[in-house]
Amino acid sequence: MSNRSLPSPARGRGSGVKGVNDYLNHSDLTMQTSNISNLCQSDALIIVDVQNDFLPGGALGVSQGDQVVPLLNHYIQYFRRAELPVYATRDWHPPDHCSFTAQGGIWPPHCIADSEGAQFPPDLLIPADSQIVSKATTRNQDAYSGFQGTRLAQQLHSAGVLRVFVGGLATDYCVLNTVKDALKEGFQVVLLKDAIRAVNLNPGDGDRAIQEMLELGATTQQLEDLAA
Ligand SMILES: [Zn+2]
Repeated sequence: MSNRSLPSPARGRGSGVKGVNDYLNHSDLTMQTSNISNLCQSDALIIVDVQNDFLPGGALGVSQGDQVVPLLNHYIQYFRRAELPVYATRDWHPPDHCSFTAQGGIWPPHCIADSEGAQFPPDLLIPADSQIVSKATTRNQDAYSGFQGTRLAQQLHSAGVLRVFVGGLATDYCVLNTVKDALKEGFQVVLLKDAIRAVNLNPGDGDRAIQEMLELGATTQQLEDLAA
């Protein structure tokens, strides 16, 4: 006797609303898809620089960077279900950007505007109504922070956001600087510590970045905290 015909308790709670397991087939996380334990109406999700060039195989691939994608998809689903806003930052550089080695910078060319490497990976399920925040779009300015040279702070303030949940790439550069600026702007910050990965140009950079963010006032959560 098969039990396949039994209804799944994790699905179909909201009429017509798909559970994360309808989108994802690589979940090894045992979790309910409907319960949101601790999000409130002034929360927003910020996904930092999850772009092809920052994934393994990309121009500036972060080791295990691809592992943040399924986790961020879960977070996206929670925020969507709570009708909370999702923001996604991206490097969006001109071809002769100052951060590239040819111009004396420290990075290989990456995330050139409109290139394949600058795109979000197709398996990252960024909602169509997300706010996309492009940064470091001019030749002479780099920006590790999603707030630098963008309207992200104003957008968040005018949306009534008080607390931001931050995940993405990389822990020791763009996540670190986005979190620092978010704190400076007066937002509470929750670092999604299972959905970040570090470059670790120097061993331990990622751990030091996390420590710095905590000391500055960020807190951390991981998926199981939201999936209670
Ligand atoms: Zn860059």
